Amino acid sequence: MTRAGPRTIVVAGGGIGGIVTANRLRRRLGREHRVVLVDRNPHFTFAASLLWVMTGTRTAARITRPLSRLERRGIEVLIGDITAIDPTTRTVTVEGRELRADHLVVALGAQWATDRIPGLAEHGHTFATPEGAPRLADELQRIDQGRITVLTAAPLYKCPAAPYEAALLIDALLRRRHRRERVEVVVRSAEAAPMPVAGAAVSAAVVEMLAGRDIDYQPSRQVTALAPGRIDFTDGSEAGELVVYMPPIAAPAAVANSPLAGNDGWIHPDPVTMATAFDEVYAIGDTAHIVLGIGKPLPRAGVFAHAQAEVVADTIVARIAGRPAPGGFDGHGACFIESGHGRAAWGSGNFYADPAPTIALHPPARRWHWGKVAFEQDVLRRWL
Ligand SMILES: Cc1cc2nc3c(=O)[nH]c(=O)nc-3n(C[C@H](O)[C@H](O)[C@H](O)COP(=O)(O)OP(=O)(O)OC[C@H]3O[C@@H](n4cnc5c(N)ncnc54)[C@H](O)[C@@H]3O)c2cc1C
Repeated sequence: MTRAGPRTIVVAGGGIGGIVTANRLRRRLGREHRVVLVDRNPHFTFAASLLWVMTGTRTAARITRPLSRLERRGIEVLIGDITAIDPTTRTVTVEGRELRADHLVVALGAQWATDRIPGLAEHGHTFATPEGAPRLADELQRIDQGRITVLTAAPLYKCPAAPYEAALLIDALLRRRHRRERVEVVVRSAEAAPMPVAGAAVSAAVVEMLAGRDIDYQPSRQVTALAPGRIDFTDGSEAGELVVYMPPIAAPAAVANSPLAGNDGWIHPDPVTMATAFDEVYAIGDTAHIVLGIGKPLPRAGVFAHAQAEVVADTIVARIAGRPAPGGFDGHGACFIESGHGRAAWGSGNFYADPAPTIALHPPARRWHWGKVAFEQDVLRRWL
C-alpha cells in the first residue's frame, strides 16, 4: 500500500468485530479518512445477553441498538446486502453498488445452517437469535411437566459455553418456578465433551456443574432430524418434547463465494496479523477459521472478534502513518458461563499456547455474574 492521501476503509459486517474495528479506526484516524461500515441488518444485538432474554430478565429490544448511532461518531453506515467481494481490487458489491476500499476488513461472522438438520427449525426452539429467544422464554414459562432437551446440533457452533449456560439457566428457572421435579432437563451434544478446545479439566468441570444440577449429559450425540416429540440421532431416537438447540453454522455466503474462501468456505487469515493472502484485506471474528496446534479451530466467540478487531484497526492506522504494525493477536480470551441463581463461572487463558491451550476455570460466583452484567452495559454504552 503506497498511495498517499485520504483513505477509505471499508468494514464489511456490523457485528462485534465490525463495530469495534470501526470505532477504533474512527478514534485514531483523522477525519480526512473515511470509515464505512456495511451490514444488511440495521440493528446490532448483543448475543451474549440472549440467554437472559430466554430467562425473561431482558427483552430483545433492551439489548439491541441501531447501527445508525455510529454515524454520530463520523462512521458512515451503509445498510445493504453484500453480494460480492473482490479482494484483488478490495471492492464489495452492496446490492449492485460497488464500494472500493484502500483497506478492507471482512467481519461477516458465520451464518446459521439450521436447515442442515431436517425439522430443527420447525420443531425446535433456539435461544441464539433475537426472534427465537423470546419465543423460547414463553415456552419455558408455560412448561409444567415433561422433558427439555438442550442440543448442540453440530460440533462447530458459536460460543462453546452458550448451550451449557442455557441448560444451567433453564434448570435454575424451573427451580424458581417450582417445576423442576416435574420437568427433566437433559443435554445432548454433538461434540465429544463440553468446550473441548479449553481442555479436559474445563470439560470435566462443566460436566460436574451439569451433574450437580441433576442434568443428564450425553456427548457425541449427533442429531440427524427432529419430528414432533422425537429426536433422531445417528445412534438412535429419543423422546423430545421441548427441544432447545444451538444451531450449526456455515461460512457466510458472500465469503464462501469469494476468492477469499478456502476449500471449506471460511477465510484462513494469518492467526496473528489477521491479514489474508490479499494486500490490505483482513479477516476477523467468526469468519476467520484459525486451526490451533491441537487440530481444532479457535472457538467462534465475541471476545476473539473484539481482540482481533483492535489488532487490525491498529495495523491499518500504522500502515496509513507509515509505521510498523504495533502488535498482533496473541490468542488470549475469556468467557463467562452463567449458571443461574445470580452466579457465573469464569474461564480465561491462552488459546495459542503450545502444545495446547492453557485455560483456567473459576467456579461459579456472584462476582462473575456481575462482571458479565457490567460488560454488557459497557458494550451497549461504549460501542453504539
Ligand atoms: C446465544 C449466544 C451467546 C453468545 N455468548 C457469547 C459470550 O458470552 N462471549 C463471547 O465471547 N461470545 C459469545 N457469543 C458469540 C459471539 O456473539 C460471536 O462470536 C460474535 O458475534 C462474532 O462477531 P463477528 O463480528 O465475527 O460476527 P457477528 O457479530 O455475527 O457479525 C457479523 C455481521 O455481518 C453481517 N453480515 C453477514 N453477511 C452479510 C452480507 N452478505 N451483507 C451484509 N452484512 C452481512 C451480519 O448481519 C452481522 O451483523 C455468543 C453467541 C450466541 C449466539
